[in-house]
Amino acid sequence: MTPYEIISKKRDGLELSAEEIQHMIMGFTNEEIPDYQMSALLMAIFMQGMNKNEIMAVTHTMLNSGEVVDLSHIPGVKVDKHSTGGVGDKVSLILAPIVAAAGVPVPMISGRGLGHSGGTLDKLESIPGFRVDYSIEEYSKKIEEIGVCLIGQTPEICPADKKLYALRDVTATIQSIPLITGSIMSKKMAEGIDALVLDVKTGNGAFMQTYEDSVSLAKQLIAAGESFGKPTIAYITDMNEPLGRTVGNWLETRECIEAMQGDGAEDLMEVTHQLCGTMIYLGKKAETIQKGIELSREMISSGKAWEKFLEIVKSQNGDLEMVKNPENYPQAEYQTIVKAEQDGYIAAVNALETGLTSITLGAGRMKSSDKIDPKAGIVFQCKKGDAVKKGDTVLTIYTDKKEVLETAAERLAKAVSCSSEKPAAGSLILDMLDKTKL
Ligand code: URA
Repeated sequence: MTPYEIISKKRDGLELSAEEIQHMIMGFTNEEIPDYQMSALLMAIFMQGMNKNEIMAVTHTMLNSGEVVDLSHIPGVKVDKHSTGGVGDKVSLILAPIVAAAGVPVPMISGRGLGHSGGTLDKLESIPGFRVDYSIEEYSKKIEEIGVCLIGQTPEICPADKKLYALRDVTATIQSIPLITGSIMSKKMAEGIDALVLDVKTGNGAFMQTYEDSVSLAKQLIAAGESFGKPTIAYITDMNEPLGRTVGNWLETRECIEAMQGDGAEDLMEVTHQLCGTMIYLGKKAETIQKGIELSREMISSGKAWEKFLEIVKSQNGDLEMVKNPENYPQAEYQTIVKAEQDGYIAAVNALETGLTSITLGAGRMKSSDKIDPKAGIVFQCKKGDAVKKGDTVLTIYTDKKEVLETAAERLAKAVSCSSEKPAAGSLILDMLDKTKL
């Protein structure tokens, strides 16, 4: 079949064969099929969706476009976590040292922030000197030595996904469950894991804004992971409010340093311990998820997670003195505060608006070539449910860009709503799904 016929078939809602999918994706990756035809196919997939067989074909094609890391020589069950992304989602920086300190090897290939959502690599790189560009051989060696390594996608890992993601980004085809599943799971299956925990965010600050879409995505991700023989557990977690007390790369890294020293925000630590406990359980270092959670908490209270974090920073060339003395980090040139407009309670903090405003401050990028400022961002002095008096500081804005300060403050003042009644407190963990719930 020609690309024209394959595009027409999907446009008309018909199933594509594995050969047709492979022909299009590999043809595009090898520059034999032009952008305009691949864009048309992506939009047809976006509009018509794909069934399980087609999603598996997308995942396998992207996985096989590059190398699959073999970590079988490293003892233990290797487990990673993947989040579909949100605002203030800094969990990986705390989770990787906790799980590695509990004796489960963590091979982690992470991404950068794009649009309103942050990325683990940008947060790690806010530590002076910290490297995320190690080769597969160096990555494997570091996991062998200290049980964990956090890097970015190397040129050998899923090159088809890299090219396709860039095209999806400019053709408004990112938010497609089959394409997201193929993109995430091909990379996860390439990194050398034995099992996977997924944090599928839902709400205004997430890729999937409705609960139903988030559950559908989680089910496709689990089905893909299990079909590769990798036990996969997914959580649906709330992303209507930024996670933790900060948004912005160094500000979030500093928050993680405090969390590893025992001073973590309640919402951040709830999600972190649940994911860690599940990884520790899948990694066979606890008999149940609950026991895994207890071990995870112990890794913080004993200081072992903090020690492991220092080992990671040293192993990946980061500035140890800076993480031990974070008060020495340079501050953004300008700061301003947003105050509570009435007595009462913080009823909501809009995650999407917070994420979008943080980009204007310099904390994020709209396209992958944009530069970010690690010092820029927002610190929340108050979170949802906190009691406030009129005039109390709700949040502080940090930026080097004087010209954006006033607009950012106005926008964030609108993103925070107060009410006279205390909002109902609820868990951020909305559901847990595994292969029994598909
Ligand atoms: N993260 C990915 O790696 N790929 C997507 O398509 C969406 C989020």
